[in-house]
Amino acid sequence: MPEEVLRTKDLSVYYFTNGPPVRAVDGVTITLNKGEVLGIAGESGCGKTTLAMALMNLVQPPGKIVSGQIFLEGEPLIGKSEDYWRTIRWKKIAMVFQSAMNALNPVFRVGDQVAEAIMLHERVGREEAYERVRELFGLVNIDPAMIYAFPHQLSGGMKQRVVIAMAIALIPTVLIADEPTTALDVTIQAQILDLLKYLQRRYKMSMIYISHDLAVIAEVADKVAIMYAGKIAEYGNVVDIFKSPIHPYTKGLIASVPTVSKAKEKELIYIPGSPPNLADPPKGCRFYDRCPYAKDICKNEEPPLIKVGDSLVACHFADEVKDITPEDMWAEVQE
Ligand code: SF4
Repeated sequence: MPEEVLRTKDLSVYYFTNGPPVRAVDGVTITLNKGEVLGIAGESGCGKTTLAMALMNLVQPPGKIVSGQIFLEGEPLIGKSEDYWRTIRWKKIAMVFQSAMNALNPVFRVGDQVAEAIMLHERVGREEAYERVRELFGLVNIDPAMIYAFPHQLSGGMKQRVVIAMAIALIPTVLIADEPTTALDVTIQAQILDLLKYLQRRYKMSMIYISHDLAVIAEVADKVAIMYAGKIAEYGNVVDIFKSPIHPYTKGLIASVPTVSKAKEKELIYIPGSPPNLADPPKGCRFYDRCPYAKDICKNEEPPLIKVGDSLVACHFADEVKDITPEDMWAEVQE
């Protein structure tokens, strides 16, 4: 029986602006087990980063967690004070942010920033903290002499390695990586991905890996949650979902992963349109406007997340569409 480490139950995060609230995350339930990697995928604006920020209790106003619960090793976290969160953030649940530049303070030396994080949470002196920083830099393949560098003296890849060193400094139970390779060139992306995989296995951490890039998710994750417009569209074992995607949106995402053979055959597929306005989401299925299989019922009734095989799928016609190949499903709507 897998050991549950982190779970959300019907978690909702809204942003309150002048008009109706923007339902960025709307009733999301996910489970992360010990030593497992859960990929969270979907287009930009589908709620992935807001979900990650909620898991760290870092949602900033006008955003707010409006309902649901987060359990970390069985302990409910919603309702706990910020003082409590400070005792678990970085120590039990840590995050590698999307942009290393935003995570590092430009006016402090990078070694100082990692050492501060260690000293803040553990009763260690300055010398011991710096010794740990040198070890961590070695682990993430940065010359330990670079602890004296300022962020602007490092390349993008090196800054991301520093951010990773900071996130794993206290060997958290859960590591969240939010698009950690965005803005890096392809070779460095591969190195950072390999580094995260290595560290996750070495320290048996549980990891949530967020990416819009399904090829990356396929490489790193055990399970995947496909998010669309703030909700889970499909959720299950990564091999099952990549081999036999069921939800039309998942099929679209998979069909649009570029490969050399598809490019040669000019078979690159895309999903027309864009996600709905989450301040005024559709009454029924949120994918209705873009779905090639949509029927009348989809417009008015929201599909529940139901079990199909070993996956969970939010589609009224999951049984009908499950055997349609991604390319066949999306062929007709391509120009
Ligand atoms: Fe498409 Fe309808 Fe399924 Fe939504 S419920 S994904 S609109 S077929």
